[in-house]
Amino acid sequence: MDYVLTCNDLDKRYGNFYALCRLSMHVPKGAIYGLIGKNGSGKTTLMRLICGLSHPTAGSYTLYGITSDDKNICRSRKRTGAIVETPAVYLNMSATENLEQQYRILGLPSFDTLEEILELTGLSDVGKKKVRHFSLGMRQRLGIAIALCSSPDFLILDEPINGLDPQGIIEIRELILKLNREQQVTFLISSHILDELSKISTHYGFIDRGHMVKEISAKELKNLCRKCIRVTVADTKPLCLLLDRLGLDYHILSGTEADIYLSSPSHTDAFPRPSAAGISITSLVMELSKGHCEVLSLREHNESLENYYMNLIGKGKIEN
Ligand code: ATP
Repeated sequence: MDYVLTCNDLDKRYGNFYALCRLSMHVPKGAIYGLIGKNGSGKTTLMRLICGLSHPTAGSYTLYGITSDDKNICRSRKRTGAIVETPAVYLNMSATENLEQQYRILGLPSFDTLEEILELTGLSDVGKKKVRHFSLGMRQRLGIAIALCSSPDFLILDEPINGLDPQGIIEIRELILKLNREQQVTFLISSHILDELSKISTHYGFIDRGHMVKEISAKELKNLCRKCIRVTVADTKPLCLLLDRLGLDYHILSGTEADIYLSSPSHTDAFPRPSAAGISITSLVMELSKGHCEVLSLREHNESLENYYMNLIGKGKIEN
């Protein structure tokens, strides 16, 4: 596979504290890579390293195949845009003036692509309005617009939807998808808003206490997130007895609600539940009826990314 970024046993140490510990990561070309981790897990530290804002204590990374200690790494960085922590914008300037300023900083000969970038980021109709009067979502989009001035192939966004309202979140999500699909931009995006990342990510990296706990593609994750049947019954006590007798795996949600898993977790699964025999929905319904379990409702339900994450991180499972 063609990787834009690989990290190889990266350490970042502050005194005796390891903010990153033997961290390895692989961002495929064309991916939207969601970096997921709790506060303080090391996401920003990692992004700062990749952007060259700080240096690893040990280990290395490659950007477009060039290693971090190669002097040509600057060339790879030119293909990379980033917003780490908050977007760096001039509050007393308009969107256009901010972009013009960025073109000057980059030493670009003309403002040819300016209108196109404003259009792409949904800022073409903001006129002379100063950035200080922009909403948080508009500022975030301007940050991305500024990052796009150098026509990057790879964009690194640290918590791009943090603090945004639902409309702002949708706008940023659509912008990311558009840039990925229409301009083939590869993304590395950090967030702790898991469900939001699950709407766009093609790959995930789960980071915890500076360790890469697991890397997984969205496709693999979808297969791992086991399908289950969410049932509402009059009483879960007889249901439990029946499910135990059938050897089925389940999770009780309340006195009247439960998730019943129809298949066993695979060996690579992070779910720590006991294995269960497979069963079809039809057979389950028949067994419930035979067992005199009064079913009030029944629907298919997928294990969410959040549950997957909690099982993975909650167990403190760390692959070295
Ligand atoms: P958040 O989601 O809150 O932004 P994060 O995952 O981005 O968190 P980092 O900011 O990378 O986490 O911090 C990782 C750990 O490294 C934290 O415990 C932080 O306190 C520590 N850390 C970061 N920078 C420094 C520094 N310059 N000196 C000492 N410790 C630091």
